Amino acid sequence: MSRQIDELNENMNNVTVTDFRSKSKQKISEIQSLNRFKTTNDSTTIPISPANVFREKSVEWGVAIESAEFAKMMDQEDQFSSYREQFSFPKKIELPKIDVSLLKSRDEDCLYLCGQSLGLKPKSVDENVQKVLDNWSNRGVHSHFHGYMPAALSDLPAKKPMAKIVGAKENEIAILNGLTVNLHLLLATFYRPNEKRYKMIIEEHAFPSDMYVAKSQLRSHGISPEDALITLKPRKGENLLNEDDIIRIFEEEGDNVAVALLPAVQYYTGQLLDVNKLTKAAQDKGIIVGVDLAHAVGNVPVCLDDWNVDFAAWCTYKYLNSGAGGIGAIYINERYLSSYSETFPMYRGWWGNSNKTKFMMKEDFDPAMGADCFKLSNPSPVLNAMLMSSLEIFNQTSVVELRRKQFLLTGYLEFMMKSFFPQKQSQKQSNAMNDILVPSVEIITPSDPKQRGAQLSLMFSVPLSIIQEQFQKRGIVCDIRMPSVMRVAPTPLYNSFTDVYRFITNLYEIFQNIDSLSVTANNHELLEEAFTAETERSYSSISSDSEADSVTGSNTL
Ligand SMILES: *Cc1c(COP(=O)(O)O)cnc(C)c1O
Repeated sequence: MSRQIDELNENMNNVTVTDFRSKSKQKISEIQSLNRFKTTNDSTTIPISPANVFREKSVEWGVAIESAEFAKMMDQEDQFSSYREQFSFPKKIELPKIDVSLLKSRDEDCLYLCGQSLGLKPKSVDENVQKVLDNWSNRGVHSHFHGYMPAALSDLPAKKPMAKIVGAKENEIAILNGLTVNLHLLLATFYRPNEKRYKMIIEEHAFPSDMYVAKSQLRSHGISPEDALITLKPRKGENLLNEDDIIRIFEEEGDNVAVALLPAVQYYTGQLLDVNKLTKAAQDKGIIVGVDLAHAVGNVPVCLDDWNVDFAAWCTYKYLNSGAGGIGAIYINERYLSSYSETFPMYRGWWGNSNKTKFMMKEDFDPAMGADCFKLSNPSPVLNAMLMSSLEIFNQTSVVELRRKQFLLTGYLEFMMKSFFPQKQSQKQSNAMNDILVPSVEIITPSDPKQRGAQLSLMFSVPLSIIQEQFQKRGIVCDIRMPSVMRVAPTPLYNSFTDVYRFITNLYEIFQNIDSLSVTANNHELLEEAFTAETERSYSSISSDSEADSVTGSNTL
């Protein structure tokens, strides 16, 4: 039986790989005809796009863009190709729901395209965290000020590289808490509603946590979100936010708005907004602007000082690879720090004191000069060592340099998606098809590389659960976000063009095998079921362990 399955798999692979090759051949002739086209046109009039770069290289190398060879040659040209070695790639065999029969070896790395959710672990983390633990072993309480990464000062080394990454001054940055906590702290300071200005602006499809923060902050002032929360939404039938619409809202409603909380890169669609332009428009109307950089930091160039935003917050475990639950960071524009006075509205804790007086246990708060005055509690040196391991890698380069590779890498993913997969059909056609679903895909992320980072968000005509199940079997890691998006982020620090090529060939195979599929349950229901079942399984495995602990009396909770 299992031999039969093996044979079946083998046959399937052969069929689809050949199909893929013949498709590549067909593409070569397309390129050749494109060449003819090009020679009769002034190439300077062709706008710079990743596709144009690929076409030029393809001609120069005599290799079709759609071939494995092309990806390999792109990797050979990639100045970042060796950075991959600095990260741990999970093995396929360790991943849930992997189909072991598809493995060539037990040692195969997974295809990781999920840096937008949790960045991979820098290998140096092991050694650096061990050094922190050793320091604690060896020095006990003296590890606060002595030895490797003294605990009490452990957040300070990250400030300089972090300031560089977000285009700020070191004193405007503090490393503390998690993102949601920080958004609350910052809004406690910056959202000071009065009779006239009491509204808050946020995107309608904000990350849920940001939305909870916004609504609960309003309520903490006795203000109802129904009255006071203005949500930014795409136009009807569109997926992306329209900047002109946002500016119009600033102009129309601005006099009543206290704070606007904007994303730099929208988590669901991958859209990069022109924060500079939006900030100026909002501030012209007297609105305070806060930016959530969760999906922007380490991904796209960020220039907080130039953009002149009032405050910002971000997590560090996505493109910044600091590990799950990694320590967060904030930015406070210098103008607030220089005008700080005793009445500055903020939550205070002993760790916000100046380093000079922090341990004198003074009754009066003596704020640190800079954003550090927002710190409340002493930080974990383990988290800071994890963050520093990653920032040291970023310090070997810059986000601006990485952006050049991103332009090509994400552009290559987009180019290949468009070459090999039917794009979404018009509404009419798909209605006519009734419940026979032809697999097609729509990229909802902007196609202009200036309006996006690494991530492309894909919407499939077939249930996401089918694609995701196949991905899991094959050890392809990207994530799905309800209601209907798959997010794929080739990350320039550690992903290669060959990674993208493999993603495409796998997806192509999957599409070949779900040609015409009638589906009874809709996308959403299937997914929700799968999510709930998986979460329940994880929880029950934890709680049964702790039950066992309590029986043996070792449960200290
Ligand atoms: C990832 C992310 C979060 C997560 O919040 P934590 O407090 O770090 O758990 C919040 N908001 C946005 C926009 C995110 O992308």
